Amino acid sequence: MSTQPDEFALIADLFAPLSASYPGALGLTDDAALLEVPAGQQLVVTVDAMVAGVHFLPDDPPDLVARKLVRVNLSDLAAKGAVPFAVLLAASFPTDVSMAWLTAFAAGLKQDVEAFAIALIGGDTVSTPGPLTLSLTAFGRVEAGRALLRRHAQVGDRLWVSGTIGDGALGLLAAQGGLDMVSADHRAALADRYRLPRPRTLLGPRLVGVARAAMDVSDGLVQDLGHLCRASGVGAVVEADKVPMSAAARAVVAADQSRLATVLTGGDDYELLFTAPREGTDLLLTLARETDTSLTEIGCITAGTGVTVLDRDGLAIPLPRPGWRHFRGEPA
Ligand code: ADP
Ligand code: MG
Repeated sequence: MSTQPDEFALIADLFAPLSASYPGALGLTDDAALLEVPAGQQLVVTVDAMVAGVHFLPDDPPDLVARKLVRVNLSDLAAKGAVPFAVLLAASFPTDVSMAWLTAFAAGLKQDVEAFAIALIGGDTVSTPGPLTLSLTAFGRVEAGRALLRRHAQVGDRLWVSGTIGDGALGLLAAQGGLDMVSADHRAALADRYRLPRPRTLLGPRLVGVARAAMDVSDGLVQDLGHLCRASGVGAVVEADKVPMSAAARAVVAADQSRLATVLTGGDDYELLFTAPREGTDLLLTLARETDTSLTEIGCITAGTGVTVLDRDGLAIPLPRPGWRHFRGEPA
């Protein structure tokens, strides 16, 4: 291979090996891929784009960029209870991208394609005068009619989240050189959560038939919960004290109370947020053990509209901006 990337060499050398486990990918030698959907199952499809300087830092390691791209999409599938099996990649590489960058990117892609037992079944490769722009489409399967949806929450449901909340947003601050009020270990742990989400691919499918409504938390807990509430025609109350935080996030908030708003409204958590009837609690605690995932009840679904976050005295915490919005910018 020459030092200048060539589109067809890239596809054959770097991407085609990642298609090997899926016959319908035709080794990335044809115009399109052929998907199998077993009888009684539904295809669940999602796409997410990532732009250098917006969704990752331009000098982030290329293997981690690839893995984050895969993982943010698998998080959406997990939120629907789907088991992922294939992805398509549309990549717009800057004209001056190096072979070393591309090789490292493909290595990261390979690592997660293998880790999550999926295949790269096709895509498109172009060059752009603009920033590196990546779009990944992910395909999963779920038993027909049983996908977890945002619109199924009912008044009285308990509200749950997986893992810990706030690490992604605090991790971005740490990755940008901030949060020097906590230890280097805490900063590293947070930055790692920002760069490499852990999509709940095992938990999601296990929530089918247990959770009522579900979504993943990617743009801030409060804003995302607001979307779930709107889709279901309900409101929600969150008890801020119950929102699970990592040791590193707790250290940040202990040093600077104002960072609690970052935890509640910052993006990049990629945890699952779901509702379940109160009778489902025991089953959820069993599921948590079996999938080795922490699950925490953080509030409940109410009649009405909107999300209220209460402090430990039961007073509403004012949150000027509930989460990340493109075209408007990040929360305070
Ligand atoms: P066409 O011109 O017919 O759209 P391409 O030459 O763009 O086909 O792509 C050839 C094959 O390589 C197709 O199977 C396509 O899906 C695959 N491919 C191209 N770019 C990528 C990529 N970035 N990742 C995965 N597969 C890719
Ligand atoms: Mg063609």
